[in-house]
Amino acid sequence: MLGQMMHAPLLISSLVAHAARYHSDAEIVSVNTSGGTESTTWGQVEGNARRLASALERLELSESARCATIAWNNRRHLEIYFGTSGGGYVCHTINPRLFPEQLVYIMNHAEDEVVFIDSTFVPLIAAIREQLTTVKHIVLLEAETGGAEETLPGIIAYDALLAEGNAQYDWPDLNEELASSLCYTSGTTGNPKGVLFSHRSTVLHSMTASLPDSIGISAMDVLLPVVPMFHVNAWGTPYACAMVGARMVLPGPGLDGQSLIGLIDGYGVTIACGVPTIWLGLLREAEKAGTELKSLRKTAVGGSACPPSMIKAFRERYGVETRHAWGMTEMSPIGTVNQPLAKHLNLPEADLHLLRENQGRPVWGMELKIAQADGTPLPHDGKTQGELLVRGPCVLKAYMHMSAGETLQGGWFNTGDIATLDPDGYVVICDRAKDIIKSGGEWISSVELENIAIAHPDLADAAVIGARHEKWDERPVLIAVKAEGADPSAEEILSVFEGKIARWQVPDSVVFTDVLPRNATGKVLKRNLRDQYGDILLS
Ligand code: ADP
Repeated sequence: MLGQMMHAPLLISSLVAHAARYHSDAEIVSVNTSGGTESTTWGQVEGNARRLASALERLELSESARCATIAWNNRRHLEIYFGTSGGGYVCHTINPRLFPEQLVYIMNHAEDEVVFIDSTFVPLIAAIREQLTTVKHIVLLEAETGGAEETLPGIIAYDALLAEGNAQYDWPDLNEELASSLCYTSGTTGNPKGVLFSHRSTVLHSMTASLPDSIGISAMDVLLPVVPMFHVNAWGTPYACAMVGARMVLPGPGLDGQSLIGLIDGYGVTIACGVPTIWLGLLREAEKAGTELKSLRKTAVGGSACPPSMIKAFRERYGVETRHAWGMTEMSPIGTVNQPLAKHLNLPEADLHLLRENQGRPVWGMELKIAQADGTPLPHDGKTQGELLVRGPCVLKAYMHMSAGETLQGGWFNTGDIATLDPDGYVVICDRAKDIIKSGGEWISSVELENIAIAHPDLADAAVIGARHEKWDERPVLIAVKAEGADPSAEEILSVFEGKIARWQVPDSVVFTDVLPRNATGKVLKRNLRDQYGDILLS
């Protein structure tokens, strides 16, 4: 017997339509690319998204046409998220920090037909315009095209495009399995690969992101996505905020500590989401400025391991709770979030704090397992390390233009991470499989060493790599950036490991450098560090 409930497809347009219907005046503050802020509401965002969808119809695009964005987190970008997907097109967010050759590769591979760009990126696109074989229209995210016309003839102003749109446009009734948005992985090895999200996966992910034990977002919140809208859809937060009617602050191009503090204090931000490096800058500035970050209740931190010292600083200094989360583009991206269980409430405080440091437990829809390289399952005992695999309705089945057979392993997606998993599902990410240090047949987690090192007050940044070693194959080497005004010796730095890990895990050497190389999504480029320092222990 079939259930007798109405069928309504899970569509992205339903998120923004709900926000406009029941949270119409909820405010969205947006920092303009040219400076200054503007204020809008969910009601106005939806109106403009409708106009955009109808204006796109007139551009005679293909079915499921890919509409690229190269833009900061701002109001027009938010409207494009809903206007493109809602109209049946695919919103393809692009990371502007990619090399030009990678941009060309990605845009041709995705077959982008329209590109929406912030004024910052006019020179970037002008330089590669000739090589973009499928792009028919370029839209500048401004009221007028200004001087952009000179280097990009035919460029259209976003506001002019909207003016042609129809605010009475009805959202089409689409198949929920249709592609809605597209993100390419950063491609540290080989070419970047496209992850095509569907309406259905996006709506389900919005729900899981909002759940109380996940990021936990409500209509009472003001959410600041510091994570860029070009990085896995700002972790899906724009969709989730629409779903629950949360207010938002979109930070534009300035992500330095001072600008962020201004936004948090100025607009009463309650939840802020971003990668650890961003919060390092913010905590440093907050200390200098003497602010209390009064409105802030929670930070969601992920993308790289969140150092325990950061969780502690947020908690003890500002009364802010950190939700440490793990995920990846291929998972929409949220996989696990750290929140305690009821049985943990009676734990001594110190133990509870310790429990809050790991990457947390799966949200609904994420099934995890660990296995050996050959696929043999490993126990979920919280001790055994293995390759971490996932499956579920928000996990990709195949990369764009690739088959499931090339993407999955026996129906599961291999994350490329090495982890332990306990019976409650709590995950400890030990390392990327390619970064873990193999010393004399034992594994050493570079993440664990980095977490300890970064707590040293004389260090501003730290990374650990496996350097080649004649006897042990590999040994850990710490690449460290000194804090402003500090001049510690290697011995002083290494003393921080004493008593925290086994002696054989302590790095053999410390190399000081001015800055760590990072990729387009802010992750440390371990491969570059290995190229540079991988032989320093060989005689
Ligand atoms: P890409 O897949 O393009 O590298 P992602 O941003 O999707 O970019 O990166 C996913 C990877 O980032 C994960 O597989 C994991 O290695 C790392 N990562 C994400 N969150 C965490 C975390 N909280 N702790 C440790 N590593 C993390």
